[in-house]
Amino acid sequence: MKCQLKPQLKPPSFTLKQTPKYKPNAMLKTVKNLFIFAMLTASHGVFASSNPPTTSNKQNTVPYQASSDVKQFCKDLSSKLRTVKYQGCLSLELQVATTQSIEGRPLTYREYIPESIQSVPKLPKGRILFLSGIHGDEYSSISITYLWMLAMLKHPESTGQHWLFLPLANPDGLFGKKPSTRTNARGVDLNRNFPSPDWEQLALSYWKHYYRKNKRRYPGAGPASEPETQWIVETVERFKPDAIISVHAPYGLIDYDGPEHATPDNIGGLKHKELGTYPGSLGRYAGEYLNVPVLTLELHAAGTMPTEQEIYNMWQDIEEWAQLKLKRKETDF
Ligand SMILES: [Zn+2]
Repeated sequence: MKCQLKPQLKPPSFTLKQTPKYKPNAMLKTVKNLFIFAMLTASHGVFASSNPPTTSNKQNTVPYQASSDVKQFCKDLSSKLRTVKYQGCLSLELQVATTQSIEGRPLTYREYIPESIQSVPKLPKGRILFLSGIHGDEYSSISITYLWMLAMLKHPESTGQHWLFLPLANPDGLFGKKPSTRTNARGVDLNRNFPSPDWEQLALSYWKHYYRKNKRRYPGAGPASEPETQWIVETVERFKPDAIISVHAPYGLIDYDGPEHATPDNIGGLKHKELGTYPGSLGRYAGEYLNVPVLTLELHAAGTMPTEQEIYNMWQDIEEWAQLKLKRKETDF
């Protein structure tokens, strides 16, 4: 399938403060209160929504009108998740990919390009793909991503990285049924559907024997059989991230797959513990096969948010991990 993602060519409309010399720790301390303030006032965003690209994929049933995709999406998201506010969601100016979910819901993304990347040569400039909501019933992972995106929008000086967020990779899992489901609308666990080289040989047999056909972990009929998975794979191929961060719940730990140089320490209160990978998992596909660092945050609970302080601490540690451990492809800019 052809990649439909169109990254922004221009930086977002906000203006970055220029810093004469980059001091990560000092900068992080400086923005700490502002950052927390941004999260606390997340419901008061006043930016107007952008006009999303018109969706052209008509192969699925489309419950949304193309011109109001983002508004409807934000309406649905704010109805579903207490943390997410409608105006705040609109202020993110989410973009809509032409690839849609199985049930025709929009697949959304948001890119953040710090202007200072081009003006301060020594500034770190990693490209980080941030995924959440691959499992539709892990509410906290979607909510925390929303808060981090809002905080970054309001305080772009808090990062030196180039981010691409896919804040809800499995919208049918969140919205399609009550209660929400881990899997997509066809009952596929997207985190077992990635095209790792061993998928054909191992994914289904592993599911049958190791998982005893647990429906929550069905890997699908084939590698990348699902449009949501295809969209993520296309995004990885096009964006060429230096790292991928994926948020889940509820195991309360940090997992890591990929090259040794980016092995993380703790992130906030989450301790690093290797879980291993599975045929078709993102860790096996991107971390082991593509050799891209894949950092998985497993929050403590799917239905309860961490404290504001913990949310801030985690973000600070993520930023420091990116600053210190990623090997960047300088030619990307
Ligand atoms: Zn999960």
